[in-house]
Amino acid sequence: MAKKVAVIAAVVAVVALGAFILYDSLKGKEYEGSFFAMDTVVSVDLTGRKNEELFESVKKETKRLDERVLSKTSESSELHLINSDGVGVAGTDLSYVLEYAKKLEDDSGSSFCAGLGSLVSLWGIGSDSPKVPDDAEIKDALKGCFDWKLSGNTVTLGEGCSLDLGALGKGYACDKIKSLIVVGGSDKAVVSVGGSVLLYSKSPKETFTVGIRDPWGGVDDVAAKLTLGSCCVSTSGSYERNFTADGKTYHHIFSPSTGSPAESGVVSVTVVSDSGLVSDAMSTALFVLGVDKGLDFAAKAGVEAVFITDDGEYICTPGIKDKLTILK
Ligand code: AMP
Ligand code: MG
Repeated sequence: MAKKVAVIAAVVAVVALGAFILYDSLKGKEYEGSFFAMDTVVSVDLTGRKNEELFESVKKETKRLDERVLSKTSESSELHLINSDGVGVAGTDLSYVLEYAKKLEDDSGSSFCAGLGSLVSLWGIGSDSPKVPDDAEIKDALKGCFDWKLSGNTVTLGEGCSLDLGALGKGYACDKIKSLIVVGGSDKAVVSVGGSVLLYSKSPKETFTVGIRDPWGGVDDVAAKLTLGSCCVSTSGSYERNFTADGKTYHHIFSPSTGSPAESGVVSVTVVSDSGLVSDAMSTALFVLGVDKGLDFAAKAGVEAVFITDDGEYICTPGIKDKLTILK
């Protein structure tokens, strides 16, 4: 029996390109492809029927979501239009995502904020010219960051508010991709969209092994592994997208209360959920909250989480303990 389980287990060895969790391959995969969207490489491994056709539809849908809906920079996106005009209509996807984001802002005690666009631009982390802003600039960029609303499908932004969905867009893409994969009749799939990974198998017995990147190592270094069934996994880490000025390193996950990179005592948070939207958004929210408040909130929100603290401790929710193997 143990042997049988070993045979059906798909080993997804860890870590990838610029992402937080990477994977090597889906064991027994019949098709692999990748493309660039959402500012990252999207990797798609498939086993089942009509793999190439399915890959093309995954690519088309992910690019649509990026360029026509969620991107801050693409001039044809709904989000760009709303940010430019201060008001606008959200289609089905954007409405769904914003509704969840508003709820998460409330439930997370304002640790999550979908309106940090001005602050994110001010710091310029990930751009060619990041900088440490002064206090007055930070205060100004934070003004109105929670002042946005969705009524029906109309989005209205208050003065100074600019939406940035970088914390959850890639996870939502995993959910949309999963729908295509299920409808397409795929047997198994592993799809990596930056820091979020979709693990899917038709068989409820299937397990996948996913690596959590070593926050102090290189992109291929794995600190721990998780053995999971079909689900979505997202990691937020301060080692990703950061810059150093005057000997201090500044990362890209901000505390909405200070307007500076969150200093919550953690360097990485991994969240497991059935939904990619939830795993992605929650990994960002839990990073800002830190371990104590984060564990409480994870329990309330019904997700499993693994925190790696500044001093290299691993702390996880009870439901994931027996699925976690620490390697370092
Ligand atoms: P992630 O890597 O999923 O944790 O997302 C980080 C990205 O989300 C950043 O690059 C920003 O675009 C955005 N962001 C940063 N801080 C927050 C926050 N507190 N709440 C929501 N979005 C944030
Ligand atoms: Mg996130």
